[in-house]
Amino acid sequence: MTTTRQPLFLSRSVSIFAIISGVAITLALLVAWQLVSRTTQETVVASAQAANQATTEIFASEVWHEMARLLPPADATSQEIRENPNLLAIDNRVRLFSRNTDVVKVKIFDLRGLTLYSSETKQIGDDKSKTSGFISAKAGKAVSELTFRATFSSFGGEVFDRNLVSSYVPVKRKGDLEGIVEIYTDRTREITDTENQLRDLLHKVIPIFLGLFVVLLLSFRHSDRLRGNHEKSLLNLALESSNARLAAEQANTTKSQFLATMSHEIRTPMNGVIGMAQLLMDTPLNDEQRDFVRNISVSGESLLAIINDILDLSKIEAGRMDFEIAPFSMSSTLDAVTSLLTPRVKEKGIRLDIKVDDGLGGYYLGDGLRVRQVLLNLVGNAVKFTEHGSVTVHLSKAEKGLHFDVKDTGTGIPTDGLTRLFASFSQVDASTTRRFGGTGLGLAISKRLVEGMGGAIGVDSTEGQGSRFWFVLPLAAGNDPHDDAAMTETASSAHAQDASTLKSSAAAVTSGPAHILLAEDHAVNQKLAMALLSRLGYTVDLAENGAAAVAAAAARPYAVILMDMQMPEMDGLEATRRIRAQTGPNQSTYIIALTANAMQSDKEACSAAGMNDFLSKPFNRESLALCIAKGLAHTEK
Ligand code: ADP
Repeated sequence: MTTTRQPLFLSRSVSIFAIISGVAITLALLVAWQLVSRTTQETVVASAQAANQATTEIFASEVWHEMARLLPPADATSQEIRENPNLLAIDNRVRLFSRNTDVVKVKIFDLRGLTLYSSETKQIGDDKSKTSGFISAKAGKAVSELTFRATFSSFGGEVFDRNLVSSYVPVKRKGDLEGIVEIYTDRTREITDTENQLRDLLHKVIPIFLGLFVVLLLSFRHSDRLRGNHEKSLLNLALESSNARLAAEQANTTKSQFLATMSHEIRTPMNGVIGMAQLLMDTPLNDEQRDFVRNISVSGESLLAIINDILDLSKIEAGRMDFEIAPFSMSSTLDAVTSLLTPRVKEKGIRLDIKVDDGLGGYYLGDGLRVRQVLLNLVGNAVKFTEHGSVTVHLSKAEKGLHFDVKDTGTGIPTDGLTRLFASFSQVDASTTRRFGGTGLGLAISKRLVEGMGGAIGVDSTEGQGSRFWFVLPLAAGNDPHDDAAMTETASSAHAQDASTLKSSAAAVTSGPAHILLAEDHAVNQKLAMALLSRLGYTVDLAENGAAAVAAAAARPYAVILMDMQMPEMDGLEATRRIRAQTGPNQSTYIIALTANAMQSDKEACSAAGMNDFLSKPFNRESLALCIAKGLAHTEK
């Protein structure tokens, strides 16, 4: 279950922003406040010092000469200073001078730092020589400081909570330093006034800052919401497109599976149609009947070719196309293509030239049948679309592997048609189908096959002048296998064109009166296989499913067992495994799989179950004969 979180007023990022900017604004205000109040204090102190200095100068010029007479001698002790009989006179004079000024206290020091006079009597005689203010003033430089006093003894008596500026000022007469005066002025009012003004300012500034903060916060929140929505819609978009992709992939897989199943299902009855037509051909027929049967055969073969194409494409699209890696002969591959197309080439009165660069006609490692399929399709197309001139196939060396070039002087392809050429079911124009036939699958399959083998395919064409199709394959050189090439050929008899190759091999095979077990459930295919086998001179026992085959195999020995893969009750794979596990007479009999599945994985499954060979449906008399002959030869060894 998913829970939808209630959207908060402030998202996490906005809250973080609010905290950071709140702290920053508060700090900025504090620092500004500190700066302003320090500057204000410094201004107050500086102006007080200037005033005190001026006061002292006036004091020096107006009062000092009288004062000098009243002060104790320069070498007087603290005791003598305290007992100075003139103290009252000095005090009167100082108070008189200070009247109507903001001076609240005065002290006079001699050059030794002893307090000669203080309006606070108890301080008279104190030694102030160590204080920094005195030292600085003695060096000729007046200094001031602002201090806050909770209680203070002023001329007018005890006062409380005062901001005072005290200044040590040197007293000079005719350029000579004669003493130091410390004057206290009361600056409480200025300080309080300034502080009040600052506070007023702060009261005005804070709402402005707060307003700014809120505006910033709201706009940040707004942009955060926009970003969130944007992210959400991007996420939705990504989700939708991924769902759409999944759905498309699913649809494609379903389509491919459907096509694979359909073509498999069609191949089984096609086996009956083509096989029965072949059997019919061997019976006495008049010319008209023979022509009808030939037409059935030809139509069956064409239908089969289309079904094979669809099966190929669906296998490739479902990612189930397996490629064999085995040695194959390039010159035989080219020969097979040429011999298959020669009748059409002759019929059209054009030329088919095959050029193979020196040393390239030998053996290669790869899937020879697939190479032949691609070549057959490209050369077949070239022949199909060429009315005059020639088709030239040229095999040369590529940077990695081999380069195949198929050039024709045919109709050519318009530029806009070139782009969709390798797409499934695509023909350059619809009239092509009517004129030349075809499904538009050949090039799509060729492209996928070539790419599946690690190569590349392409085309150049000029309308009206001809086309040049090419493909490159990374094929490594292989050795002449000297083994049963025929087995590979037999197993792949799914392709009708294989028949011609097989015919010659089959002719060499002599059939003997061997006894064969046929396990097949499909009624028509049973009839067909039985008829073909009896014509080849074999005697046959029929088992209708795998279980019956296992029972039959336990009862008597057979020269060869033909085993359909898909059967009710028990399939061919399981039946084979059981026969191999028996201690009966057929434990090592040659077993040939019969199946409409022509895939490498099926072949592997058959061989893993213990079968010796593989014959894919629809098979014809030649391929069946060849396969059985191989089995018999194997048994005799
Ligand atoms: P088809 O089974 O229709 O031949 P292909 O996929 O092999 O299917 O070819 C698709 C289309 O490409 C053909 O219908 C034709 O329009 C065009 N084409 C292929 N090869 C040639 C060629 N050599 N010259 C002209 N057109 C060609």
